[in-house]
Amino acid sequence: MTTQPPASHFVNGAYVEDTSGIPLPVIYPATGKVIANLFEATPAIMEQALSSAKDAQKEWAARSGTERGRVLRRAADIIRERNRELSVLETYDTGKPLSETLYVDATSGADALEYFGGLAGSLTGEHIPLGQDWVYTVREALGLCVGIGAWNYPTQIACWKAAPALACGNAMVFKPSETTPLCALKVAEILHEAGLPAGLYNVIQGTGAVGAPLVADPRVNKVSLTGSVPTGRKIYANAAKDMKHVTMELGGKSPLLIFDDADIEKAVGGAILGNFYSSGQVCSNGTRVFVQEGIKDEFLKRLSERLSLATIGDPQDEATNFGPMVSQAQMEIVQRYIQIGQEEGATLVCGGKRLDRDGFYLEPTVFADVTDNMTIAKEEIFGPVMSVLTFKTEGEAIARANATEFGLSAGVFTRDLTRGHRVIGQMEAGSCFINSYNDAPVEAPFGGMKASGVGRENSKEAIHHYSQVKSVYVRMGDVEAPF
Ligand code: NAD
Repeated sequence: MTTQPPASHFVNGAYVEDTSGIPLPVIYPATGKVIANLFEATPAIMEQALSSAKDAQKEWAARSGTERGRVLRRAADIIRERNRELSVLETYDTGKPLSETLYVDATSGADALEYFGGLAGSLTGEHIPLGQDWVYTVREALGLCVGIGAWNYPTQIACWKAAPALACGNAMVFKPSETTPLCALKVAEILHEAGLPAGLYNVIQGTGAVGAPLVADPRVNKVSLTGSVPTGRKIYANAAKDMKHVTMELGGKSPLLIFDDADIEKAVGGAILGNFYSSGQVCSNGTRVFVQEGIKDEFLKRLSERLSLATIGDPQDEATNFGPMVSQAQMEIVQRYIQIGQEEGATLVCGGKRLDRDGFYLEPTVFADVTDNMTIAKEEIFGPVMSVLTFKTEGEAIARANATEFGLSAGVFTRDLTRGHRVIGQMEAGSCFINSYNDAPVEAPFGGMKASGVGRENSKEAIHHYSQVKSVYVRMGDVEAPF
């Protein structure tokens, strides 16, 4: 397949190029080789994207929800028909193994388009009776939305933002991560093939230097970011100037609590999924694994045994289930954390090294004897590095799990379901799991508490973040004025 798109940007229903933009080479993480050459958006491209979105939005919002939803559901069907081709591209863009991308990326994007396409026809208001008068409410689109993506799930992020935004009658300008710019262009192409009018979903490329003026533009009504907490702080502040709506899907350092009555195989499976899927590049990962004292040795033994079964290799080979890091820069950040972990006295149980091959491969890495104040237990690493901590009592585990600025996710493994609900009930986290980890069905709200975010993606909750309510008081009788 060709990984070079027809042009760098998709604006007003067509691919557009402006070669005066800063060159943006796309690197395949499994080889380190350039697989496409794009250009960052120039001010002229940004202007085309914003003005075409602004122009197209009102007519789109005036259509019936059912009509808007039909376009999204058609796009979902096209994505499913082309799943393999889109998954191969996702693997080139991110380095994630095809054994993952075939099942998770384009398919979850299609789920979002199908789900919000289905909801679009039922976005109604309320009738509030007040004696002979009444109030009715209308759910209206926000207008022009800007979406900004991270590099770990480029197709999914593009769809998770496009689907609710378009279902509610908004237009969107989406800027993918500069590290993975290819997949969102395909999403734009498919949406238009499905019948989306030109201008409603534009994709433009670039770094934060392109993102920041998009966020600041006075025509923009809402900004939805998937990214790190430091970037979230900047974008939230930038959007605050005009009181723009925001959704912030940010990072985490989530706790996974494993009690001594847990089914060890299931708990090890959950810890593996919550730390090594996508080479650990998942925001909701349970990277602080709190294991109750009595089962620590058994847990570490089974974890090491199972990690030794990982098939690391060419991500386009379906037998591979552990691929490279997304970029040289991200690999170096993770290597630095592995070094700090050792320097601060954590015990390296397995992994820790870069693989002797092309591309940005790191071994799945586990540290034991990690304490709460170690850097690797406090900061988001965003790579295949698990920290195992031990605890004695339930109360202690809950307090330590919550002692973080983040609040994206939390998980518990126990056979005692009463305890499972009690513990999760006290977790300061938005997306939680009992005897599971990292499931993200479109029907469930997804997002963080505390520094991990504002707002929710997916589910009916997302509708509230892409629309606003107008209330209308209707008086039937006389108006009684004091003078
Ligand atoms: P990042 O914060 O470096 O960048 C995110 C996006 O913001 C990129 O597109 C970048 O170009 C853009 N950007 C940077 N500065 C900007 C600015 N000043 N104005 C506008 N845009 C700007 O994040 P990343 O390294 O791409 O992704 C990894 C991070 O994303 C991790 O922290 C991870 O936890 C988080 N993440 C969160 C979720 C979630 O749903 N909660 C999902 C995936 C990733």
